[in-house]
Amino acid sequence: MVSRATNAYRIYDLKCTANDSYWRQTLGQLIFYDIALTHYLDLGSPPEKLGFIQPKCKEQVLEISIGADERNAMMARIISMAHNMWRREWEATKASHCSMCEVKSSCPAHQPKSLLLDERGRKRASF
Ligand code: SF4
Repeated sequence: MVSRATNAYRIYDLKCTANDSYWRQTLGQLIFYDIALTHYLDLGSPPEKLGFIQPKCKEQVLEISIGADERNAMMARIISMAHNMWRREWEATKASHCSMCEVKSSCPAHQPKSLLLDERGRKRASF
């Protein structure tokens, strides 16, 4: 995050990947930062720019434009997650955004029923 005398600010997320498409998987994280920093720091208005700094990619500074629709969609996800937490519902459930999830390979919602992770993250077969 870069603050300037004008009170305008920008949010950049550093990614140490050589995958030129990796940013697509983490765009939700950047939108979350946008909302969290704007509200938590009481900055009053959204950042003037968002982007990824990705030194190993072709486009080393990738600037992203997001609007009210993206922010509203993320707020809906945050509120839904908060309600689940208040109801103590911790079970992961499959959803459309799972295809973009970085932890899908170890997510219980996507494991075969006969192969689940134990409390230490080891794969265990149920009998
Ligand atoms: S793969 Fe699992 S952890 Fe990732 S979004 Fe889907 S349900 Fe959530």
